Amino acid sequence: MKDSARSGQETGSAAGAGAILWLIASGKARSRSALIEASGLSRSTVTERLAALFAAGLIEEAPDAMPSGGRPARLIRLNTAFGVTLCADIGESHVRLAITDLEPRILAEAVGSVDIRRGPVPVLGWIVEQFRALLAGIGRDSGDVLGIGLGLPAPVDHEGGRVVGPSVMTGWDDFDIRSWMRRHFDAPVAVENDVNLMTLAEYRRFWPNVGQFLYIKAGTGIGSGIITDGRLYRGAQGAAGDIGHIQLTHAPAPLCRCGKLGCVEARAAGWAIARDLRGHGIEASAARDIIALTQAGEPEAVRLVREAGRVLGEVTSDVVSVLNPSVIVIGGTLALAGEDLMSGIRELVYQRSLPLATRNLTIAPAQSDLSTGLLLGAALLVIEMQTRPETIESTILRHQRPRAA
Ligand SMILES: [Zn+2]
Repeated sequence: MKDSARSGQETGSAAGAGAILWLIASGKARSRSALIEASGLSRSTVTERLAALFAAGLIEEAPDAMPSGGRPARLIRLNTAFGVTLCADIGESHVRLAITDLEPRILAEAVGSVDIRRGPVPVLGWIVEQFRALLAGIGRDSGDVLGIGLGLPAPVDHEGGRVVGPSVMTGWDDFDIRSWMRRHFDAPVAVENDVNLMTLAEYRRFWPNVGQFLYIKAGTGIGSGIITDGRLYRGAQGAAGDIGHIQLTHAPAPLCRCGKLGCVEARAAGWAIARDLRGHGIEASAARDIIALTQAGEPEAVRLVREAGRVLGEVTSDVVSVLNPSVIVIGGTLALAGEDLMSGIRELVYQRSLPLATRNLTIAPAQSDLSTGLLLGAALLVIEMQTRPETIESTILRHQRPRAA
């Protein structure tokens, strides 16, 4: 009696609807029948929870219907107009900003050259100012903001909302980014490592039904993001996937920018290839310069990129042995070198991993746009964070306001 009264109460509660919303938001179930199957709930419970979500304005029927078994199934998606996300890609020398809807699609964007070495307060202050201007530009205000997603080029303590032991961000170590942002902008804030956001964007948009997924970013720096059972794996301190500073011992062991010898980065990152090119009298400083050189057919650049592919393949094969992913995606600027980079990775992974681990393994280049992928990943993170069963109630309350009929 007591139990049934409690479950009856939960049926209509926002928290109960949160599990349904999560299935819709993550793309795992988009129709009523798929929701019933994925949630294990009865048809009447799913219908009731959907009604609560429709009433709150959180979901809508998608305009296009997909045929299933002769009868068109009505697809459900997040109401893209329910709110917007504010996203920032904080790079080492520039910050890229965007407002997205809940698709997510970019509604407005801005880029500024900001040196993160100036420390967190000037950089975050600039971001808050720009967010306000961008919102005003599209006729929205802070009440429309579902949340803020910030991507940073450092290990991030996601729960604590701060960076930990950054190699290129003096003054940011342990600074409470989330609390600072919340004092200056009234919206939930998610702070995440940049590679994890690129991983999330690539995974949710192009491989949503793969359980075990590895994303490797090969750019001016090197890192990786891990999805296990459909969720980002961050590790105990947020340092999971930091493959750039795994030391390979074979000689020669060049000095890394982290101070150690022989790191993967010091052998294969854009900055290291540029260093070697300069050693041959060829001008280059970042991953973009290397791609321009390979596209121009500069033989030394092609040779160094191929060699970098083999170094990446060596460390990737070790990761394959630990994680047994079914899909590995190679992204970042160096991935624009195509087969010159990919062939070395494939060669070493297939040579060094156990046959069981590579039998059904796909290794593919990234499909996300290099300049907007990270921002869309930040938007996806905010959407996930604010549509979870434990946050959905406060999200609905925050957004309850009179709506035009
Ligand atoms: Zn290193």
